Amino acid sequence: MNLTKIKIVAFSAMLGLSINAKANVHVHDQGEVFISQQGSMWHIEFAVPAINAFGFEHLPENLQQQDIVKGFVDSLSSHKRYIQLGSDCSLIASNEGISDLYQVNKALPAHKHEHHHDQDSDEATHLNASFSFTFDCQSGVNSIKLPAFSSLNELNKLSVQWITEQGQGAAQVYNDQTELTF
Ligand SMILES: [Zn+2]
Repeated sequence: MNLTKIKIVAFSAMLGLSINAKANVHVHDQGEVFISQQGSMWHIEFAVPAINAFGFEHLPENLQQQDIVKGFVDSLSSHKRYIQLGSDCSLIASNEGISDLYQVNKALPAHKHEHHHDQDSDEATHLNASFSFTFDCQSGVNSIKLPAFSSLNELNKLSVQWITEQGQGAAQVYNDQTELTF
């Protein structure tokens, strides 16, 4: 157990470096995937426009919209809908930044809100849905499958970057070809 913890700490330090390389892009129907490997640990991070994840990019304004966001977060527990590595890999962690960003576990704003800007709340806000998975793989990983398109409405392209022990690379993956070989 301790060994695993040490590995995760070292791994997180490496991730801190890789995050600097990320461009902050937000183009509807296009998402980004960052893959990093250290030893047997593989970390896969998705950033997709929220509009492709659950159809809007503002905070939920009613219970129905809250449920839509929660439904998307729930779908992440079936990680194979988004990412498939070889059978030698087991999921050891998953994370999402959606619940906090969209405040789905907080009370909805009261109807009589102090501000009168509620109607304009979709003024040029563009938010991503970010989520990640960490796997422990007992053998090398040469390719991955990204079936995420079928769960991300209208998404047609994922820009993938990777940093593995074999080197760095980048590729575009389209919704008609979802397997990526390093
Ligand atoms: Zn947007």
